[in-house]
Amino acid sequence: MPDKTHADAIQSQLLQLHATLDHVGAYVFTKDIQGRYTYANQKVCELFGVPLEQILGKKDDEFFDLEKYNQLAIHDQKVLQQGKKIEGEEVNRVGKSDELMTFWTVKSPLYDQQGNIIGLSGISTDITERRKMEQALRDQQVLLNTVLDNSDSYIYMKDKDCRFLYANSNVCQLFALPVDEIIGKQGSDILPKEVAENFDVLDRQVVQSGEKMYGEENFFDEDGHVRHYWSVKIPLFKHNEVYAFVGISTDITDIVKMKEDFKVMANTDSLTGICSRRYLIDCAKREIKRVQRNKKPLAVIIFDIDHFKTINDTCGHGSGDKTIKDIVNVCKAELREIDIFGRLGGDEFVVITPETAIEDAIGIAERLRNAVHSVKAASDKINISCSFGVADWKGEEFFDEWLFRADAALYNAKQSGRNCVKFQE
Ligand code: GH3
Ligand code: MG
Repeated sequence: MPDKTHADAIQSQLLQLHATLDHVGAYVFTKDIQGRYTYANQKVCELFGVPLEQILGKKDDEFFDLEKYNQLAIHDQKVLQQGKKIEGEEVNRVGKSDELMTFWTVKSPLYDQQGNIIGLSGISTDITERRKMEQALRDQQVLLNTVLDNSDSYIYMKDKDCRFLYANSNVCQLFALPVDEIIGKQGSDILPKEVAENFDVLDRQVVQSGEKMYGEENFFDEDGHVRHYWSVKIPLFKHNEVYAFVGISTDITDIVKMKEDFKVMANTDSLTGICSRRYLIDCAKREIKRVQRNKKPLAVIIFDIDHFKTINDTCGHGSGDKTIKDIVNVCKAELREIDIFGRLGGDEFVVITPETAIEDAIGIAERLRNAVHSVKAASDKINISCSFGVADWKGEEFFDEWLFRADAALYNAKQSGRNCVKFQE
């Protein structure tokens, strides 16, 4: 019975083929010219949730929501009527499921021996997860770009040769260049040499060390004003080697300016513009350190306005303020560049005279005493004068002790009738 053997062999081959198709990881099926299933592999049965017998002879409208998603039918028509091979995405909802599924489907016509189309074969791959991941990635990209382009910082990425790989919109604005003219360039291709060199320092350090770097970087704006940036540069590694780094630079120009202003404010007496008490003490301590090294003489003069309360009481507090300012101005004119002049508080002033022996410091104090006589109060009845105490630094002496001796000399001057200079051994 050769025919039976032949039929058995074909049957056996068909079973093997079907078993193989059950394991290909794709949805494999055939349909007749009416679009009715003539074969479906195991994966299709699982997708439809029914055994093969309930699929054979049925059309897609039994299993898919074809009313809303009629791509399947359109594709099938093209293959069955026009004999075209279709390759593309099909989006559909299986049965009553809420979830939309995306398939990559290849459908080809099947022919009989005369070349007539008798159906189609299809292979579909479920790419739902891939599409979801791609969408999630696109969403992340949108989120990232929104954050990067709306951040106040200058954010960029450079390769290990310090060529820009990414620049956010702030960087483009700073360089006044579109992003395509920044990507692939080094700082020196875009910026003046000195400015680029300034940026290069931290860039090179992060690539060479492979460590996160922080530091201040400066940039001159188009008006030539320096702007200060606080930069953080983070290395990125591939196979244990730095292949790029991300930089985040924040404009701290206003903060730097504010810090400088605060420093000036803290160091300056607001009424007179000379050194504040705090700054005066800092300077005195610095001078002490210096003379400890260079062994040069150093003296201090302390002076106080005589009967200042009377000036306030007679002419008013505003007039008293003016007297303080006038005294400071005439004294300033008598002092050298290296002398440190400050207001200790109230009507009391200090001059630190570097490289000055006690006799010379007494001479300076006398000059100041005479100069103060030129200051006029609002009332003719009042003559303005100051009393002075002078002391030279004795070595191994703290500032407080030194000033205390000068203050004792001032007390002595007050006791001796005021408007005079006394010194303390
Ligand atoms: P003496 O000759 O003993 O120094 O007498 P005096 O009246 O000057 O006494 P004292 O130095 O103790 O008084 C200083 C006065 O200076 C007391 C205070 O009311 C006044 N004063 C302190 N700071 C200011 C200020 O900023 N402006 C004005 N107008 N007066 C001040
Ligand atoms: Mg006084």
